[in-house]
Amino acid sequence: MDNDATAVAATALYPPERIGAVARAAEAAGLDALVLTPGPDLRYVTGYDAHVSERLTCLVVPARGEAFLLVPRLELAVARTSPAGALGVEIATWEETDDPFAAVAARLGTPGRVAVADQMWAAMAFRLRDALPGAALSAAGEVLRGLRMRKSAAEIEALREAGAAIDRVHRIVPHLLKAGRTEREVGRDIAEAILAEGHVTVDFTIVGSGPNGASPHHELSDRVIGRGEPVVVDIGGTMPSGYRSDSTRVYCVGAPPAEFTDYYVVLRAAQEAAVRTVAPGVLPEAVDAVARDVIASAGYGEFFVHRTGHGIGLETHEHPYIVAGNTEPLTEGAAFSIEPGIYPGPHGARIEDIVVCGPNGPDRMNLTTRDLVIIDA
Ligand code: ZN
Ligand code: ZN
Ligand code: ZN
Repeated sequence: MDNDATAVAATALYPPERIGAVARAAEAAGLDALVLTPGPDLRYVTGYDAHVSERLTCLVVPARGEAFLLVPRLELAVARTSPAGALGVEIATWEETDDPFAAVAARLGTPGRVAVADQMWAAMAFRLRDALPGAALSAAGEVLRGLRMRKSAAEIEALREAGAAIDRVHRIVPHLLKAGRTEREVGRDIAEAILAEGHVTVDFTIVGSGPNGASPHHELSDRVIGRGEPVVVDIGGTMPSGYRSDSTRVYCVGAPPAEFTDYYVVLRAAQEAAVRTVAPGVLPEAVDAVARDVIASAGYGEFFVHRTGHGIGLETHEHPYIVAGNTEPLTEGAAFSIEPGIYPGPHGARIEDIVVCGPNGPDRMNLTTRDLVIIDA
């Protein structure tokens, strides 16, 4: 939980008119109401970074009618001082011995279709279903994704701030990486730097040295980093705004093996080509294909084993996914990673930037060099 964002930033990031837009989206989707429990959907709609617990907290947004936030009474003060308190939305409370699901049902009447936050606990969804026996429940993500994918100017600035913060960490990495240190030691220092540079949480620290670099989601191990080994560093965190960073660069202590350099230049070209493709109307699968074609025509296609990217915002992975089969055209304000990789072993590489789809093309949130960073041994 944090309420660190300044009042001005919170109002711009979480504008009061958003609840109305969400209600209209619910109505357009043929729903009677949305029930949003703590998580990215609730935060997106209200700015309230409520903690997840067994006590029900939820924003109820009827397609027609007034929305209300239901919170346990002991958390009323927290809810009021969160950005949600400035929205003018009713904050209702329940007592420890009340049934909050019955309270929601009593307010909703007999809805036919209700969507719940994608990240509502299953146990809560079942209790809501029991309290609303006539309602078909579905996932609210499908209703909210269209809104969440089009980042506002304030959201783009929050992502830029996150990008600048993780760029500062990448600039420190050459001072932390040394032959003879373990991945875990380096990772611990990186985590400290992620916080020192302005994030409120460290979401992940991947330090993949040598063969571990060939495993895209390797995190940290006690492996000692050796001279001449490429090291994949993929790091990210959450800013006070709620918006997230995610950037990958590759480092090498001393000179890399020649066969590594051979494919690193291909990867570098693939990432660049894919970023340049970004514009409103372009299909995500076309962006993926651009990166994949560069890598495949150089003979490394079988070593690019994941999609090219994922959306980012209040979650590290959200829509739109930059992947074959995604034919929903990119819209202005879409924010996502472009992160092709080549993992032939006994080393691997990935280059990752967050890119926003601007009116005329890509707007990069990460600006550190994409060249292999060679650290003096
Ligand atoms: Zn990943
Ligand atoms: Zn990523
Ligand atoms: Zn990443």
